[in-house]
Parts: sequence; C-alpha cells; structure tokens
Amino acid sequence: MNKSKKESAKGAITLSESLPEGLQDFFVLSKVTGKSGCSFLLLKKDAGKKLLLAAGDEAQLPDGFTGEKFQQNSRYYLVCDLTPANAAALREALPFTKPITIGNRNSFGFGDRLGNAGAAHLRSLESSDFLPVLAQQSIRELDRTRRTAREVMDAATWAILQEGYTGGFGADADHLKTFDDIDRMVDAGFTMYTIDPSDFVDNRVVNMDDKALRQAFSELPWKKINDTPEAFAERYQDVAFTLGYDHTLKPSRQAILQAAVKYGRVILHTLEMSQYLKNTYPDFDSEIELSVDETPHPTTPEEHLVIASELKRLGVELVSLAPRFCGDFEKGVDFKGDIEEFKREYLLHQAIAAAYGNYKLSIHSGSDKFGVYEAIGNLGVGSVHVKTAGTSYLEALRAVALADPGLLREIFAFSLERFDTDRKTYHISADTEQLSDPDSYSDDQLPGLLDNDHARQVFHVSFGSVLTERNAQGGLRFRDRIMTVLSKNEDVYEDCLYRHFRKHIQPFEQ
Ligand SMILES: [Zn+2]
Repeated sequence: MNKSKKESAKGAITLSESLPEGLQDFFVLSKVTGKSGCSFLLLKKDAGKKLLLAAGDEAQLPDGFTGEKFQQNSRYYLVCDLTPANAAALREALPFTKPITIGNRNSFGFGDRLGNAGAAHLRSLESSDFLPVLAQQSIRELDRTRRTAREVMDAATWAILQEGYTGGFGADADHLKTFDDIDRMVDAGFTMYTIDPSDFVDNRVVNMDDKALRQAFSELPWKKINDTPEAFAERYQDVAFTLGYDHTLKPSRQAILQAAVKYGRVILHTLEMSQYLKNTYPDFDSEIELSVDETPHPTTPEEHLVIASELKRLGVELVSLAPRFCGDFEKGVDFKGDIEEFKREYLLHQAIAAAYGNYKLSIHSGSDKFGVYEAIGNLGVGSVHVKTAGTSYLEALRAVALADPGLLREIFAFSLERFDTDRKTYHISADTEQLSDPDSYSDDQLPGLLDNDHARQVFHVSFGSVLTERNAQGGLRFRDRIMTVLSKNEDVYEDCLYRHFRKHIQPFEQ
C-alpha cells in the first residue's frame, strides 16, 4: 500500500482548498488533483456524499460530469452526486480509479456486498505487499443482493477516490459459469475473470471400478481438447514430473485416470470460456482464475497437475487457481481440519503452480481462516490470492449492533427464521439450538453475537434475504435502515472492518 501518496493527497486539503460558500458544512474526505489541474474532492455531510470538482479555469473542468456548475472568487466548481454516470466520468478523468490486471503479485480480494466497505478495506492493507482486489462479486451474489455489476464497480471507484489510493487494484468477476456471465462483467469493466467449471466436475470417479473408469476415460471429449486417449496416456504413464521447490510427483496410473475423468470436461469448459473472453474482447486487458473449490472432495495434487499441464498444453494462461483444499472451509468461521496436512498439500500445490505458469494459489471462502493465514505466512512460498466476502457484511452487522442494537435484534430474528431455507447452498454447520431467543440478548450482548460461530453463520447465509426483504408498504424492510446506520456511523463501521482485516493480513506479514 502506498501510504505516502494517500497522505499527501489528504494533506493538501486544508492547505489549498477552502470550500466554497454553500458547501462549508461538508467535511472533506479526500482531495486528488488530476492532470488537467482540476481537483476532485469527496465531501461528506451526515449520511450523504458529494463529489466537488474545482479548477482555476473553466476549461480545466473535464467533460462527462453532470452536476451544478458555479463560479466563486475566480474558481470554477461543479458539485456532483455520486451517480453511475459521474463514476464512469471519474474513471476517465482519474485512470487510477479504474481496475487493472495485477498478474502474479500477492493480492487480497474484498467482496463488499453493501458497497460501502472499500475505503476501510484499502486502509487495512497498510504497508502489506498485497494488492487489493476491490470490486469482487459473483453472479450468485449479484442476483442475491440485486445489484448490478456496474454498481459494484462504482462502489470501488468511489472507495479509491475516498482513500486517494493510486497503487492499482483488481476487479474480480467471481464464479462465472457462462459466456453471458462474461459479457455482463466485461461490460462493467472487470479485469479478473474467475471461471467456475464446477458443473463439469465428474464426482462419480470416487465410486468407479477400473472398468467404469476406463470406459469414462475413453468417452472424454478428446477431439475438442485436441488430444487422444493414447497420446494422453503416453504423456503421463510412468512419468516423474519435476515441480518447483525441488518436488517431483510420479502419479500412479489409477490417479491419472481418475484425474482425467474427474476434470476432463472442466479442462474443455475452461478452454472454451477463456477462448470466448479472448476472442470476443481481443483488446480488453483481462486475467483468468480457475476455481474448482466448490466440489465435495479435495483436489489432489495429481488432479491439480493434470489440470495445470493440460491447460498449459492448450495455451490457457492462468493468473491463479483455487483448488478445493483439504479440511473444511466453512463460511464465516476458522479452518476446521488438520493444519499439518493442509501445509503439506499447500506446498505441493505451490510446487505445481510454480512449474506450470507461476500462477497464484487462490484461497476461496478465505474469510476468517486465521489458522490458514498463519500456516501460509510461515511457509512463505509462492504467491497467493485470498478471497473474502461475507465477513465484511458481518462487520457491518457488528457496527449496527453497536450503533442501533434494536435493528440488529430484528435482523437476527429474521435471519433465524430464514436459516433453514437460506443455508441450503452453503457449506456451514451452525446449530441454532445453541442460540437463544433474540429478545433475551441485552443491547450490550448483541455485538457479541458476531463472535459466536453459530450466529455468524446464521447471519452469513441470510444476507440476500435481509437485504432484499420488503416491508408491508413495499419498501425495503432492512436494507435502507442498515445503510443509513452505517453512513451515520461510518467511523464505527470502518473501525470494525479495519480491526477485522488487520487480523486477516497480519499473519502474512511475518
Ligand atoms: Zn469460491
């Protein structure tokens, strides 16, 4: 993180820009001066924010912004609302508010379902060598929160301006399954494309006998992946593969057959998705992650090896790959499982990544996995991308609990009602029997719910229902109240986020 740039940007505020009349009750959150000499100030009053453009010459005010223009004491001003059109204009005027591809540098993904956590996310990286991936949202989350890809991007743009952060950030179009998904995210300017081929994983291999396995192997779409069963067998049979960090791997015939059957169609789907992206948008700068984390069984090193070497043969370049690691990566709570086994496998996965394109390992469901961060920090090999999402929503609820306990109690009661339905698509193990009736918690006890693993998962899975539930009048039952509490108590909210993410990032900084 480039702290000095941020501070110099903020330091200039009081020195050179006094606010014009009519705006003096606003607080200046940040000020950045663009190439044309125009200054961009993000202002805040109560729960509302404005963008102020200020220049000594009218011609210095860039095009594309919509707002109220006026002149005062030989300065020209434009006061703008934080609209989608103004966010788009800002990305043109200040290119650092636009996402970039970040290659194999360590990166940290911050999903932000409410669209108001980005500034604290950036601050939590401080002097770490992680590059931020700010706009990160899966198609599933977009649908659940009823947000558009563009809104997610705009939230990142405003956060970048608010922090005056110029160090570059990524934008992750997460868990994409179709060409349509790709179109949606390219249109909104996302740069990192996380392909999710989980529908093409053949999980039946664990129960196949040798005959069934050989049959399934012969039926793979060989032509489409420009291969034959014979050529494939020759490439792998009795071969000791040289990997990074002085590792070798000599897979058994059985392991290779299983890997091919389990992931053969995954390889084809990944090839087709990446070709679609490159061929449809040839001039668009993008990078590809492959995520196979959402499968029931861990990805073995042999399986990872086959995926990696086949994609390399087919010319698919990855920036990162998310294996399904051993142990349990449940939402919202720490890693459950054998951490020593995790370390051994992680090292082998890194050794494979080093040999087949030097891509990052991506840790999905990466929120709150403190034991895993410690392990990775200690190992100190390869590069890594950590993906978090729901945990920022939980910190928002912690801030609500501190600022408006009654609202949190209501959300808790509703989330408990929704739990049996909403838990279905999530990997969690919360037991609501371990929680008491919402009314039995005093105001002071409510923030503590966010430290209770059962309650965390109850809140975690119901975010979509909470954010879209309507009241009797047809308005949103919780969402607007949550947003207002968070804007009015932005410092409380930012403090919750900052502390929580420092706990995530510090273990990597050893
Ligand atoms: Zn994932």
